[in-house]
Amino acid sequence: MKQSERPSYKAWYAANRERLITKAAARNKALGIARTKYCREYYHKTKTPERMAQLAERKKTEYWKDPERYWKYAKDGRARLRQEFFTAYGSKCACCHETEQAFLTLEHKNRDGAAHRKAVGHTSTAVLRDLRKRGWPKDDYEILCFNCNRATHEQGICPHRRNTE
Ligand SMILES: [Zn+2]
Ligand SMILES: [Zn+2]
Repeated sequence: MKQSERPSYKAWYAANRERLITKAAARNKALGIARTKYCREYYHKTKTPERMAQLAERKKTEYWKDPERYWKYAKDGRARLRQEFFTAYGSKCACCHETEQAFLTLEHKNRDGAAHRKAVGHTSTAVLRDLRKRGWPKDDYEILCFNCNRATHEQGICPHRRNTE
């Protein structure tokens, strides 16, 4: 009889099921983390121009197998990034407290938005990725809605803020 079929084993398993599952989950998680770390190190260790070209070629092949899946993946990633951005900066306009995400945008308090975009790659996604990489710095950035953003840039200060000063 196999060990797993013995009544004594079955009883023991039933009594310890929860504990075993928790333990296995923790082990799998640790293995996953170790694997990710190993892959990342391997990638950097073997990073040569030829290897990079090879990977780029493979990525292209993968892309053409199922472009839609690729786009969905990229779109999900951007949506996640945007949610992280909202959470990091308080999810509302710093001026009028508008919370509708469709109206909200990143404000460069130092007016260096154009330079920032140019430095990181022009798109708003690239800008947000850069902020995430830097741990969402708060001193020079905040969320404003489009109204407050536009008024601030046209008049130097949003009328909301002027009226309360
Ligand atoms: Zn506002
Ligand atoms: Zn305002």
